[in-house]
This record gives sequence, structure tokens and C-alpha cells, in this order.
Amino acid sequence: MAGLEPPIIDLQSDDHFMGEALRLARRAFAGGEVPVGAVVVRQGRIIARAFNQVELLTDATAHAEMIAITQAEGVVGDWRLTDCSLYVTKEPCPMCAGAIVHVRLERVIFGAADPKAGAAGSALNLLQFPSLNHRCLITGGVREGECRQLLREFFGQQRGRQTTLPGAARGGPEGSMPADA
Ligand SMILES: [Zn+2]
Repeated sequence: MAGLEPPIIDLQSDDHFMGEALRLARRAFAGGEVPVGAVVVRQGRIIARAFNQVELLTDATAHAEMIAITQAEGVVGDWRLTDCSLYVTKEPCPMCAGAIVHVRLERVIFGAADPKAGAAGSALNLLQFPSLNHRCLITGGVREGECRQLLREFFGQQRGRQTTLPGAARGGPEGSMPADA
């Protein structure tokens, strides 16, 4: 095995890894969570997989990216993830973007942009903020249609549920996706 080959970074592998993030997002959906999934890839291999678990853990910080980053740090044995890429189905929020910069991820690939809260260039760009000590490469819009459709279905379903089962669903800002998503 050639251990020193460069990581595969091409559109085909982006599609592939986003497919895994989508699979995880569907698991979040099935659990009643805002459907966001994330994977961390290092040297062409997935080293961490996570999906949003805010409701399950009753923890607003339990976004897919945060959980995946913590897992990846454990696998790498370092808080620095400088040779890793993060794939996530929705553009990271400011909290996750902050964490991404702290762990110095090399590259962030996302599916659906989030015009209201996206911190990878839509609402603001923390991933390439000039005065911070790390900047990431960003690729947006990978398998965007599928990622957006999943969010749209989820929020559509939540809105329907809210009228019949008060308290069963939330439409608060933590959804972080606009109603017209
Ligand atoms: Zn987040």
C-alpha cells in the first residue's frame, strides 16, 4: 500500500462522500431531527460520521459537524485536523464554522446553502475570515438538490405536524433553514 498518495479531491469523490453524509442526514430525519449529516475524510477515507442530534441529546451544540469533528479528533489523536475534509449536507452555521476553524480543517464541502445562517459564505464567511489564523477551502452546492429536498421535506412535515400536534415540533431558529428552503 502506498501510504503517501495525495488525498483524492475531485468532483466524483465529492459526490461519493456527500452521498454518505446524505445517508446520515436521512437517519437524523427518521429520528425527528433537522436532517443534516456530516463525514470527515482523511487520505481518501471516512474517519468520522455523524448526524444532527440536538433533540435526542437536548443539546443545541449537537450539530452533525460538531459531533463528527470530535470523533475525528479522537481517530487522528490530535485536535488539529489540517489534513482532513468535512462533508456536510447543509452549509455550516456560525458555531460549527468556528469549530471548523479551530481544528484547522483543510476543506469544507457542503450541499445546500443557508442564506440566513450559513457561515461558509452565504450569510457570512467565518471559514475564510481574514483575521482568523486559519482559512479553509470551500466547495458548496455538492448534491445540492438532494440535500435541499431533504430539508424541505422535513420542514414541510414539521409545519404540518405543528397544526395538529402542538409541542411535537419546533419551528424555531435552530432549524436554521428558511421557510422557503
Ligand atoms: Zn452548526
